[in-house]
Amino acid sequence: MQRCFIALGSNLEQPLLQVERAVRALKALPQSELKAVSRWYQSVAVGPEQPDYINGVAELYTSNSPLELLALLQGIENAQQRKRVQRWGPRTLDLDLLLYADRDIDEPALIVPHPRMFERNFVLYPLYDIAPTLVFANGVSLKQQLADIGMQGLSLVTP
Ligand code: AMP
Repeated sequence: MQRCFIALGSNLEQPLLQVERAVRALKALPQSELKAVSRWYQSVAVGPEQPDYINGVAELYTSNSPLELLALLQGIENAQQRKRVQRWGPRTLDLDLLLYADRDIDEPALIVPHPRMFERNFVLYPLYDIAPTLVFANGVSLKQQLADIGMQGLSLVTP
C-alpha cells in the first residue's frame, strides 16, 4: 500500500456537505484505506469572483496505481456533479492528488507532487493537521515549507 494525500475542495451547493460526502466516497474506494482527514478550513477563492471554499486534506493508503487512483478520484468528482464551467471557476467538488508516496510523476494527465500545492496555505495547513512530521522527497519538511506561508484568507471552520 502506498501513502497518498488528497486535497478536497468545494465552493458550491453546500460545500461542507460536499466534502463530507467525498470523505465517505474515499472510505469506500477499492484496495484503499482512509487513514486520516484534516479539519476543514474556509478559504477565499483564487481566480474569478466566487464563493469561499471549504478545503481539507485526506491521507489514503492504496494499492491502486497513480493513474488508477486519479480515475477513481475523478469518478467521485463526477458522482457529485462537478460543474466545471471555467478554469479556476467554482466547483461542487475538486479532488487533487497531492502526493503519491515519494513518487515524482510528470504525465499529461497527472503531475505529482501537485505543482501548486507548495504555495497554497489551504493545502499546507490541513496537510499539517494530519502529517506534521512529513518531509517532501526534496528533503524539505512540511514544517519548514509552512514557515514562509501565512494564514491569509484562511480560517478554521468551527464545528
Ligand atoms: P482541475 O480542473 O484543476 O482539477 O484539473 C483537472 C485536470 O488536472 C485533470 O485533467 C487531471 O488529469 C489533471 N491533473 C494533473 N495533475 C493532477 C493531480 N495531481 N491531481 C488531480 N488532477 C491532476
